[in-house]
Amino acid sequence: MTESKTSPPNNAVMLTGSLHVDDARIAIAGLVEELISESRAMHDPNDIEVLALDQTINRILAEDLLSPIDVPSADNSAMDGFAFHGDFLNTNDAVIKLKVIGTAYAGKPYEGNVGRGECLKIMTGAIMPDGCDTVVPQEFTANPIPNNSSVIQFKTEQLKPGENRRLRGEDLQAGKPAIVAGRLLRPSDLGLAASLGIATLRVHRRIKVAILSSGDELRSIGQTLDPGCIYDSNRYSLIGLLNRLNLEIVDCGIVRDDPAALKAAFSQAAKQADVLISSGGVSVGEADYTKQIMQELGDVGFWKIAMRPGRPMAFGVLKPASGKFPARKTLFFGLPGNPVAVMVTFYQFVRSALLQLNGASQTEPPITQAIAAEAIRKRPGRTEFQRAILSRRVDGRPTVSLTGSQGAGILRSMSEANCFVILGHDQGNISAGDSVDVALFDGLL
Ligand code: AMP
Ligand code: MG
Repeated sequence: MTESKTSPPNNAVMLTGSLHVDDARIAIAGLVEELISESRAMHDPNDIEVLALDQTINRILAEDLLSPIDVPSADNSAMDGFAFHGDFLNTNDAVIKLKVIGTAYAGKPYEGNVGRGECLKIMTGAIMPDGCDTVVPQEFTANPIPNNSSVIQFKTEQLKPGENRRLRGEDLQAGKPAIVAGRLLRPSDLGLAASLGIATLRVHRRIKVAILSSGDELRSIGQTLDPGCIYDSNRYSLIGLLNRLNLEIVDCGIVRDDPAALKAAFSQAAKQADVLISSGGVSVGEADYTKQIMQELGDVGFWKIAMRPGRPMAFGVLKPASGKFPARKTLFFGLPGNPVAVMVTFYQFVRSALLQLNGASQTEPPITQAIAAEAIRKRPGRTEFQRAILSRRVDGRPTVSLTGSQGAGILRSMSEANCFVILGHDQGNISAGDSVDVALFDGLL
């Protein structure tokens, strides 16, 4: 990889001394694209899996799914009501009366023709009978003869010819893509595939993501906490984040701040995984020997990013380890050690890259806006991710309030939050009542 890929564009460095988040994202997306084309060139048949439809949620569709049929397969009624020919509406009469000659049910079509002055009682989804193109909804009709449902009447002005009818193929047409390649499959996609009678989908293999935590002070759950030590929480946050994306996880545990141990762990990860995410050991002072190891194992840039939290980050590739088949490079993210910074940098940089590498076409999480419930201090020149709770005010407007102390190590600020308030690079202080960008942690569908 060339220097320009992982290094910041020069103007960004000169302006602020650190890298704009957008420039970092562009550099990451560019390198991921390069890895994707290299991996495509390897033609590995294992890159695509055929899965039963009920196993495909959150997987990424590898090829366009072409509809084998028209949906709906025939013109049918969109309402419970009475089907007739729309020509009957071309009359000067304010009210028309029609004789009910039978009933059409969903799944049980009416055999026969509906003639002039006649109609058919019809259920939602039932095929439109011959001679009918319009449905008058049940609630528009009345019975002109008391206690006799064999005649109906309705006002002609309530309806236009062709109304309340679904046309054959209006949802999907045979031979056209019903779901396009690159779709992150959601519940509606499973339903859509099922509505076409499709039992299996071709999806991308799940990429393997190795994770490790680095730091002499880190202990695993169950170990004694010596003075000055802390439990390793980052690996568990990362496991949660990766499980949400339905990726395969290779847990490489805790690695000491020791060059030989780090080198061994990184090479092992490079052998097994498509991506390595480490946390810790990239801040000033510690980064020096990580840099040295990276020079031997791959091509990695050490970035100072204009963001808070999450300033230091390493990014690049590890060369394919010997014996790795197919000989793919491993994408590397060296995230900062602070627990909130890990989650913010994951959200901002890693998530999209993983989805992109796994074949997804749409990787950006949606951003919405809400009213700030309080003033927020903000210095221009960096992007900030504040943790907040989005809720509805009494007047119904979406409002965000911050979750207490916003230090990069205070994981509770994340745990209590349901969204980030994202304050852009050039943004200054926020007053209560201002509109701010919000990224929700959870999607609904
Ligand atoms: P570092 O980037 O290694 O200097 O770490 C920055 C801060 O994050 C230090 O206070 C570390 O103790 C803390 N930290 C690093 N790794 C972890 C981890 N895996 N879990 C919890 N805290 C961590
Ligand atoms: Mg450390």
